[in-house]
Amino acid sequence: MTPKVTTIDHPMVQHKLTLLRQKERSTNSFRTLLSEISMLLAYEVTRDLPLVYQEIETPLAKMRAPLIDGKKVVLVNILRAGTGMVEGMLHILPSSRVGQIGLYRDPETLGAIEYYFKLPGEMTDRDVIIVDPMLATGNSAVAAVERVKTSSPRSIKFVCLLAAPEGLANLHESHPDVPVFTAAIDERLDEHGYIIPGLGDAGDRLFGTK
Ligand code: URA
Repeated sequence: MTPKVTTIDHPMVQHKLTLLRQKERSTNSFRTLLSEISMLLAYEVTRDLPLVYQEIETPLAKMRAPLIDGKKVVLVNILRAGTGMVEGMLHILPSSRVGQIGLYRDPETLGAIEYYFKLPGEMTDRDVIIVDPMLATGNSAVAAVERVKTSSPRSIKFVCLLAAPEGLANLHESHPDVPVFTAAIDERLDEHGYIIPGLGDAGDRLFGTK
């Protein structure tokens, strides 16, 4: 299976991403921009959702009109930085269910360690969008996809803001069936697992905890 990566190169996404990367950006502004970009990403990521046709009545006539098929989409938030993306995506997908997966990086091994996991019911009929702004080593993404797969959803997509080539390779090797959507693919990781040039620690910038 050929792994699929979509870089969302819409000018509005690229412009907002540049603003987000700037080190002088305030917490408030970072939060707003992350939410705005996430809305735009949600629009692209849901482009292929299946439709069903239903008979409706406009004020003037009857017609068969399209509606999104199936059970509500599930946004899976990789805590904590995914929270900023979920909030934005909910503007476009307001009825979505939201799952949570708590993972932290072991600072020595950079491996992902799970501390929380909660998904809605009836997952086999649902499409899942896993969100984390930074696909860095890919270890959290691999662990999150593995965990979500145990619930056998109809489909899984992974959405981030920035991806490192190392993270993409790691995720594709473990889960070649999961398409990845990102606003940009950066150069590399540094020795601490941060994306270069990146935008720093997304969680700290989002929550103002640095
Ligand atoms: N997580 C972040 O928040 N930033 C990075 O650059 C890598 C992982």
